[in-house]
Amino acid sequence: MPKLFVANWKSNKSLEEVKQWLNDFHVELKDNQKVVIAPPYPLLSLVADKIKDLPRVFLAVQNLSSFPAGSYTGEVCMRNLEGLGVKYAILGHSERRRYLKESHQDVANKISQALSNGATPIVCVDQDYIEDQARVIEPNLLNQCVVAYEPLAAIGTGENAPADKVAKVSKEIKSVFGNVPVLYGGSVNPENITPYLRVTDGVLVGGASLDAEVFAKLIY
Ligand code: PEP
Repeated sequence: MPKLFVANWKSNKSLEEVKQWLNDFHVELKDNQKVVIAPPYPLLSLVADKIKDLPRVFLAVQNLSSFPAGSYTGEVCMRNLEGLGVKYAILGHSERRRYLKESHQDVANKISQALSNGATPIVCVDQDYIEDQARVIEPNLLNQCVVAYEPLAAIGTGENAPADKVAKVSKEIKSVFGNVPVLYGGSVNPENITPYLRVTDGVLVGGASLDAEVFAKLIY
């Protein structure tokens, strides 16, 4: 399976900072490597334009409406993103579960919206709710997800999880979702990434993706 390197910029970066990042990002991707960039919504089209000719570099959103197009003020659905080439949607990130009170059912609804409109969900889970999350996802959609194991204690803290623990949880995820790609996320940086690439299908990176040169160093 290809290795995925996902950059989650969260609510960081201005227009000028994104232009700078794109100018600074130079990487020769191997055939089995894919990069996914998840900018804030207003900056999607700038990134889309810059990456359109880059092979194996894809665009993601960090969230999606749980509703289809219609009267849902403030929401962004796949219809609104048509033409931008959004191929992935990061869904159920712990920050959204925590600060925006997203439920497992909300995340499941977003997964349905993504998949029925041509985007692959990157579903974020911690170990203690893998099964609870999976239970409310339409069963035929489970094996169409990418799943990111993101232990809460490791996100943004510098306390990255041990790789043997990640390997164990990855097996648990596959036993519940099927043989899906599993990513690890939580304080990944160029110094600690190697063992995670041995036991997973890639990484979801927050802090270390904000600097283009640091992010490029992760990819080898
Ligand atoms: C994340 O945003 O999902 C994440 C893993 O952040 P960080 O790499 O900063 O821990």
